[in-house]
Amino acid sequence: MQKGKLMVLGGANCGPTLSGACYLVEISGFRILLDCGGTKDYHIPPDIPNPETIDLIYISHAHVDHIGALGYIASICPNARIYMTNLTRMLTQYQLDAIISDKIGANTPALRFNNEILVRMIMNRVYTVEENTEGIAVGKDGAYVRHTFFKAGHTPGASMILLEIADADIRKGSRKLLYTGDFADFSTQLTYPYELPKDIRPDTLILCATHADQQRKEKDISYTNATDAAKQAILSEMKPHPKLSMKISSPLKSLELVGLLYQMEQEKKIPRLPIFMDSALYTLVTDFVRISPSIDVSNVRNIRDFDPRKEKRAFLITSFKNGQYYGTRFDFSIHASYQGLVELIKNTNAKNVFVVHTPNVPDEEKALAGECVKSMITYTENGASYIF
Ligand SMILES: [Zn+2]
Repeated sequence: MQKGKLMVLGGANCGPTLSGACYLVEISGFRILLDCGGTKDYHIPPDIPNPETIDLIYISHAHVDHIGALGYIASICPNARIYMTNLTRMLTQYQLDAIISDKIGANTPALRFNNEILVRMIMNRVYTVEENTEGIAVGKDGAYVRHTFFKAGHTPGASMILLEIADADIRKGSRKLLYTGDFADFSTQLTYPYELPKDIRPDTLILCATHADQQRKEKDISYTNATDAAKQAILSEMKPHPKLSMKISSPLKSLELVGLLYQMEQEKKIPRLPIFMDSALYTLVTDFVRISPSIDVSNVRNIRDFDPRKEKRAFLITSFKNGQYYGTRFDFSIHASYQGLVELIKNTNAKNVFVVHTPNVPDEEKALAGECVKSMITYTENGASYIF
């Protein structure tokens, strides 16, 4: 069978703060990028060898550590076809617009290219895909790449991506590679648990293990804890601040926060209060529910209409750029727990598992290998290459 090569350009073994996810797969003459997160603030692009020969770019979801450097990377990979779901495309547009308007990394040479026109041109290059529908991405002299996107949970639009890569020489057969991106195995107001067909059987699994390390097994940083902690923080901040002002790091996080507030209302933890948001965030949330009406946002308003004399109680959600309202940072993210990783590996029965997007924790590899004895587990290092 044809050998493949995985190069970890960013997003592995990088200490307590994750760098952006960006992985290069080379197989059967194809060069494929999985996600376009940058290093440092998620916007500085990683070094990509021979970018002009990249054939495909796949984006798993619109969080900034997966798309922060897409503008620049796509511009140096002019021959790459870019694939993502429709929802991810819409959310990516908002995320990239925010990077530009916040002038994040504007004095970095690579990011001078990150301007509105370029981002529009790149978004126009995007091919959107339907979940659970097989498509042929690209063919080359008889070799081809087939892809299917599956729900990954985690955030709206997030996908696991299955690639089937066939060699031109049919005697060399085909390979199945599954890239999980960030994923979650439980539902929220905005997302469902990840969903994979039972018989998927990839040869190779590239597994994002964000917040799912064994040392946190006891604490189980999964949905319950991450959202419980965020709910707790909201409740305790609401008491001293009847008009609670919350700062978010990126537009998509504001949508997730509105989803969480809606959930708290449903659970009768908080009353239904008006939510005032920065214009860009407000537009994202209202655009989102038009496509995916999973939450009732009739209480969401533009912050321009906020009159502190009139409103006795309210939530304010603003970006860090908005200096008019001070507030506490609210950031939470949902991921499968360590046990969720074990289950995914066992269910897919992948021969080779490359663990990415996780800080390096001693003995982690051994622990996971001990639980998943049928798979070859490798915790990857930034900058390293692996043959599979
Ligand atoms: Zn994410």
